[in-house]
Amino acid sequence: MITDGHNHTKHFSVDAGQTIDELINEAKSKGFNRIGITEHYEIDYVDDGLNWMFELEEYNRTFEEWRKKSDDFELLKGIEFGYQTHVAEEIDKVAASIPLDVVLMSVHLFRGKDFYVDRECYQMPAKELHSEYINIMAEMCEKCNNFDVVAHYDYINRYADNKNDFVTYEECPKEFDRLFEAMISKDKALEINTKSIQKHKDGGFTRFLPDAAIINRFIEMGGKYITLGSDSHFPGTFAVSFNEAVEYLKSLGIKETVYFKEHKPYFEAL
Ligand SMILES: [Zn+2]
Ligand SMILES: [Zn+2]
Repeated sequence: MITDGHNHTKHFSVDAGQTIDELINEAKSKGFNRIGITEHYEIDYVDDGLNWMFELEEYNRTFEEWRKKSDDFELLKGIEFGYQTHVAEEIDKVAASIPLDVVLMSVHLFRGKDFYVDRECYQMPAKELHSEYINIMAEMCEKCNNFDVVAHYDYINRYADNKNDFVTYEECPKEFDRLFEAMISKDKALEINTKSIQKHKDGGFTRFLPDAAIINRFIEMGGKYITLGSDSHFPGTFAVSFNEAVEYLKSLGIKETVYFKEHKPYFEAL
């Protein structure tokens, strides 16, 4: 069984609409026995009237209660941090302040704006936009240390108007190499985000599976760890497009993925 290492609940993620029980029941019904919960924690996020942070000790306590209730099912305690240059040190501090299994790092903003709401960045040429975005992710991996996984490198694509604007290795090789060098020197994992696959497919993208050249380059440079995450926020979206992603990785010669427990990677055969 492959672990879905990226999920949110409404208890701690402000944009999620599922309870922990709904999530666990759905995972069980789909044949899973272990999941990662990675609640949003955005330090100094855009002022959208929502609270993108939570009380860490409360999360820690609540999580232990969830674990007690589900002894036949393994819950991995995680956080998904939103990176911005000026909060790098704070992220490392917060990440080390409670015991966690897995820490995901994401870039949800572009030049301080949430591109889900403000689509201005999509006026830029795609190559320029993607290069700058991947460079921010590289900087994130250079500046931060207390994390395990780089989440959805293709997030910038999710709200693109032009359905041909798909992040590829070819358009920004230097930036991807910089990102992978930083990740690999710190033994960090690359996430294949299956919500991106599903969204691109539903959105009519001409391509929707991750660019093979990106994954091949990561492996070629010495990348050892790949994770799978559905980034589910609502009932019915757990492990979405998982089978497709697994078959695709296998077709590229990838034989195993990992999940993290107490920040240690555990391999699972595909
Ligand atoms: Zn995210
Ligand atoms: Zn997420």
